[in-house]
Amino acid sequence: MNLSFAIYKKIFRIISFSSQKIKQDSYVIGGYVRDFLLGKMESEDLDILTIGEGIKLAKEVSKYIKPYPKIKIFKRFGTAMLIYEKQKIEFVGSRKESYHFSSRKPLIKLGSLQDDQNRRDFTINALAISLNRYNYGELIDPFGGIYDLKKKILKTPLDSNITYSDDPLRMMRAIRFATQLQFTIEEYSFKSIQKNKYRINIVSIERIIEEFNKILLSNKPSIGLLLLYKSGLLSIILPELTLLKGIEEKNGYKHKDNFYHTLQVVDNISKRKKNSLWLRWAALLHDIGKVYTKKFLPKIGWSFHSHEFVGSKMVSNIFQRLRLPKGFPMKYVKKIIQYSYKPIALIENNISDSAIRRLLFDLGEDLEDLIKLCIADITTNNIEKKSKYKKNIYLLMERIKKLEKKDRIKNWKSPISGNDIMKVFHIDPCKKIGIIKNFIKNSILEGKISNEFHSAYILMLQKGEELGLKKK
Ligand code: ATP
Ligand code: MG
Repeated sequence: MNLSFAIYKKIFRIISFSSQKIKQDSYVIGGYVRDFLLGKMESEDLDILTIGEGIKLAKEVSKYIKPYPKIKIFKRFGTAMLIYEKQKIEFVGSRKESYHFSSRKPLIKLGSLQDDQNRRDFTINALAISLNRYNYGELIDPFGGIYDLKKKILKTPLDSNITYSDDPLRMMRAIRFATQLQFTIEEYSFKSIQKNKYRINIVSIERIIEEFNKILLSNKPSIGLLLLYKSGLLSIILPELTLLKGIEEKNGYKHKDNFYHTLQVVDNISKRKKNSLWLRWAALLHDIGKVYTKKFLPKIGWSFHSHEFVGSKMVSNIFQRLRLPKGFPMKYVKKIIQYSYKPIALIENNISDSAIRRLLFDLGEDLEDLIKLCIADITTNNIEKKSKYKKNIYLLMERIKKLEKKDRIKNWKSPISGNDIMKVFHIDPCKKIGIIKNFIKNSILEGKISNEFHSAYILMLQKGEELGLKKK
């Protein structure tokens, strides 16, 4: 391998020199090698494997870097990390692992390069490039990783039944890499995942979700979601989704398969790289309420009335179970799902300006994301219907824009504050202030008065009088 193309060729030379000094062979291994061979110049982190002590090598390397870098030492794992030109570099000593059935955390012994490659998850992640003077740049590929990279195959170095059972997180990693790299999981390997699916229960939910989120953040999450489904892992991790699967037909009325529909919506929303993880979560969960609201109405067909409210209510439990963050992300996902049907309902009912103002008021800055979800939600194959739905949403967007420009509702702040009311009527804090403020807010949203101080002031005096208050 010609490492002179690598961005970090300078640091490779430093590591090479340092390894020689402390008499420990070293190799670049893992994701960096894989990505380098795939032609990706950048990688999240750079893993350096040394036949000996990782911490000792990191300390030696740091002597030759200016300014002297801080080294983070993980004594328990015998590893060290330093940052060189914004790149995280991890130093790990070679290991041989043995597992206990109840834990994915192995017993570790010092091992050879071969031992260390054996414990890696996939052949394409076990590739190592030598940094030793005597064979600098040589690619060490004991399991045909290069062949698998070319064929776009994910395969475990040893028997996959054992590899997945030892550390079941690898099942999630297999599906994550298959999604990110758009690789195929080798058949035997996939069968082992199906066989070992319940082993996932010994993995902490945080680690599972870390991989799951990487799947969601990929360009085409449906690849991973479908693999999760087919492996049986999805019904363990997120049964709310698999319950959406299936089509029912009655008296000639058929509803769509809401599971496949959801996958399509998630893919649509993921076409834009910038769309956030939480918008993707909202897309993923936007129809989960359909399982509990499905009804057959004679002569009308299938109805999922209020599924968005039911779905939104289910979010708290899911977030709690999956240990997803409860603050902003959960509230945001709940809100987007709760309102996910609103724009469509508005379009169907000849939208009024006041309904749009309410939507602007309720959603604020999140309205843009809600509209994105509504567009992604159009998955019909009927071209006429598709263009009609899209046109309707674009018309709605136009009206939203115009109204927002005129009335500035998005980040609405009452033109009259509670303090203003107390001063004008010479009163202490009380219920009446809330009543007046609410009255002003509703009048603005309904378009009865414009969103400015003067009109609001007059309304305050009127309402105040009604409530028995007098201007002092
Ligand atoms: P990326 O950083 O892009 O997610 P990566 O392959 O570098 O991909 P890391 O989690 O950084 O993944 O791990 C670095 C290397 O460590 C992997 O390439 C693999 O060789 C090994 N590895 C990581 N996790 C496991 C695991 N659970 N079982 C076996 N080997 C693993
Ligand atoms: Mg990595």
